[in-house]
Amino acid sequence: MAKQVVVIGGGIGGLTTAALLARRGYRVQLFEQAAQLGGCASTFQRRGFTFDVGATQVAGLEPGGIHAEIFAELEMPLPAATPCDPACAVYLPQETTPINVWRDRDRWQRERQRHFPRSERFWQGLEYLFAISWRFQQRQPILPPRNGFDLWQLVQTLRPDTLLTVPFSLMTVTDWMNFCGVGGDRRLRQFLDLQLKLYSQVDASETALLYAATALCLSQDPHGLYHLHGSMQVLSDLLANALQRDGGQIYTRHLVRHIEVERGRAVAVQVENLKTKTLQRVAADHIVANVPAQNLPQLLGDAIPPGYARRLKALPPASAAFVIYLGVKEAAIPEACPPHLQFLYDAQGPIGENNSLFVSVSQPADGRAPSGYRTLIASSFTEPNFWRQPDLDYAATKAQYTQTALDRLGEFFDLQPEHIVHCEAATPRTFWRYTARIDGIVGGISQRLSTFGPFGLATRTPIPHLWLVGDSVHPGEGTAGVSYGARALVQQLLANDA
Ligand SMILES: Cc1cc2nc3c(=O)[nH]c(=O)nc-3n(C[C@H](O)[C@H](O)[C@H](O)COP(=O)(O)OP(=O)(O)OC[C@H]3O[C@@H](n4cnc5c(N)ncnc54)[C@H](O)[C@@H]3O)c2cc1C
Repeated sequence: MAKQVVVIGGGIGGLTTAALLARRGYRVQLFEQAAQLGGCASTFQRRGFTFDVGATQVAGLEPGGIHAEIFAELEMPLPAATPCDPACAVYLPQETTPINVWRDRDRWQRERQRHFPRSERFWQGLEYLFAISWRFQQRQPILPPRNGFDLWQLVQTLRPDTLLTVPFSLMTVTDWMNFCGVGGDRRLRQFLDLQLKLYSQVDASETALLYAATALCLSQDPHGLYHLHGSMQVLSDLLANALQRDGGQIYTRHLVRHIEVERGRAVAVQVENLKTKTLQRVAADHIVANVPAQNLPQLLGDAIPPGYARRLKALPPASAAFVIYLGVKEAAIPEACPPHLQFLYDAQGPIGENNSLFVSVSQPADGRAPSGYRTLIASSFTEPNFWRQPDLDYAATKAQYTQTALDRLGEFFDLQPEHIVHCEAATPRTFWRYTARIDGIVGGISQRLSTFGPFGLATRTPIPHLWLVGDSVHPGEGTAGVSYGARALVQQLLANDA
């Protein structure tokens, strides 16, 4: 008889795992507490606009990319998408000419040589490491290994060139800058800090070099970042369709309150139907948690092994996001505005941890706004604990952040009041409510030397038959990142049952 799997959470990590397992004949039940699937990569509608909640750009749609491979395995069509070129236009403080991260390799090389003279050795090194890491990742390593099977899988993916990267595994991006003689290049440092914070949660001084090589080189041909037609929701919809086609069941507005462990093994979940307020016990052969690792102690209660609890408690502090969603008239957007921009500001004021904004602008006829209008979404990183303070004047603080973001965006976009049709903001409290991520934390456990790759959290938890998927596990955040994690988990789970 087919084995039963319960998946807690319908983010991209949970949906991908569920769809792949259903394809392999498992009986899958997926419980999602929100009214819709997708988590941080979902959408919401207001006044004719469709806003992407968090993720706005997608990696891994090119041939050989992780989404492309998974959709092929699921025999689903790839969602329609346009490569972003430039992937991002980065504006440093007081500068009016952006650093354009072009998709074409030669064009990007000329751009970076113009902006960061003498840094070519630094970039060439990154490209070299990325090429090796990419080939390694294509062989489907399991990281970090937790048992004999994982280790055997990992060993099989190693090649002589993989071993060449070992000396670099203990370097941060700053170490590499210093090694290449560009440690004193302030603009390069600012650019890298900005870009890396988006992908690894931390700046150049903390980001693991091997991770950065992938994050910084993924935007170029033949890879690239893509803008999905319609909205980010199409990714979840396609995965949900595949899951249901293969017999999987999806229950939205169902919150998993507790994971039951018996004789040291995960056996069932307690699920609350949020519509009827009724509790139900669902037994399963495997339980896959698509939640931040920091949510597990609450879900497991006393059943969490003390060593694992300590490990989770010792994780570095996570980040959260403040996001402003605007529906604007076309006139607000400068001509030929790229889909993604990043701004670093000198001015002080409440706009998050590193005084920057990452901005996504919808493109004409991309399904997000009526003709003659666009969506404009800007996000910044913020401290989750700040928003938890019991004596915080939440409404006033949110309004202050919103106004600061509008003022800053107004330096580039024409945001006179008659151009703004809709404006709303999300704080960590909002993300907590809608994605159930504890404290509203986003982006995974960061990609520091102490938390990336072999030193990160595993999909295999210390509790047999309980698995973890999502941006807490290797290789980290992003829809592509969590999909790699899902594929590795499926490999391990199948081996477990073989
Ligand atoms: C502002 C912002 C911008 C981003 N931009 C990008 C980008 O441009 N490109 C990119 O690739 N990535 C981006 N990301 C990151 C990306 O969105 C995430 O890394 C990825 O979507 C996380 O997927 P996940 O499956 O790990 O988790 P989630 O998306 O958090 O999904 C988990 C799901 O589980 C549900 N859930 C949690 N607990 C329970 C429970 N107990 N019971 C039932 N259901 C539960 C939640 O409701 C949620 O739907 C961005 C993130 C943010 C916040």
